Amino acid sequence: MATLTISAEDEKRVKALGFLSNKGTDNFSGRIITVNGKISAEQMVCIGEAARLYGNGTVTFTTRLTVEVQGIPYEKIEDFRTFIEKEGLVTGGTGSKVRPVVSCKGTTCQYGLIDTFALSEEIHKRFYEGYANVRLPHKFKIAVGGCPNNCVKPDLNDIGIIGQRIPNFDEDCCNGCKKCTVEQVCPMNAAKVVDGMLEIDEELCNNCGRCVGQCRFDAIEDGQTGYKIYIGGRWGKKVAQGQALRTVFTDEETALKVIEKAILFYREQGKTGERFSQTIDRIGFDRVEELLISDEILSRKQEILDASLHLVGGATC
Ligand code: SF4
Ligand code: SF4
Ligand code: SF4
Repeated sequence: MATLTISAEDEKRVKALGFLSNKGTDNFSGRIITVNGKISAEQMVCIGEAARLYGNGTVTFTTRLTVEVQGIPYEKIEDFRTFIEKEGLVTGGTGSKVRPVVSCKGTTCQYGLIDTFALSEEIHKRFYEGYANVRLPHKFKIAVGGCPNNCVKPDLNDIGIIGQRIPNFDEDCCNGCKKCTVEQVCPMNAAKVVDGMLEIDEELCNNCGRCVGQCRFDAIEDGQTGYKIYIGGRWGKKVAQGQALRTVFTDEETALKVIEKAILFYREQGKTGERFSQTIDRIGFDRVEELLISDEILSRKQEILDASLHLVGGATC
């Protein structure tokens, strides 16, 4: 067996840069951040070349849409970083902080209700890059899904955003047809004709928007774009399903502010080593929701960022 020569201190230092030790060797996997899982052809070629020049030629894709180049010797780490920088690529994605954002392909998907790539890129800029030096109690994962099909499992992330289309039903246009096309198209059985009028059960409706434009009498001509936000999900050693905030936000900026408030709240109120779901359980969902809706946390943003907290975070991977 090869003798390992990298000190624990050096291993920790490069881990913070996104280089994870390949077990039993002096080599590392360099974790490249893809912003939201979308890279250009030039970046793809650059990663391939970097894998041949500095690694062992193998590239792996992680569940959180980063790309890892395996087998990079410790002494080649800096050259590797410089090489991929020419295509605007950086390494990272470790530690007790906001982790790389995950997005579904809602921008191009036939079911997509929001531009997931644009939104996740904005989240990446504001909260992955913008909060890169903000220490949190543990890792903090964000996912953006384009519709309630939940392909990227937003509700199993600390924060999950799901695109919505809230149907705009005009009762005056409804004729209570025997065969209602809206009823037929609704995958949730939320739309039903009752006593000569269509009714949408808000408890069942997931705002998938499939009914929009389906009524031949224009009873649902359009719908409002929205953002549903789940908080406190996690997947791993322990599992928790996120809980949706009761408000469906109809404005992107408001939704982004809720994300920022959640991160600040977690930094201030979370105990080191505690995941966001545990902080929410300890403080109570209703109280957390109230704080995420109000502007109190954002008004103390600088104070929360300046506080000396979580100098050693709880994340181990
Ligand atoms: S969650 Fe919806 S928009 Fe996103 S990939 Fe799945 S079906 Fe498409
Ligand atoms: S929503 Fe349209 S299709 Fe359905 S009952 Fe009303 S008018 Fe008829
Ligand atoms: S938005 Fe979707 S779930 Fe809601 S009534 Fe329309 S089709 Fe049904």
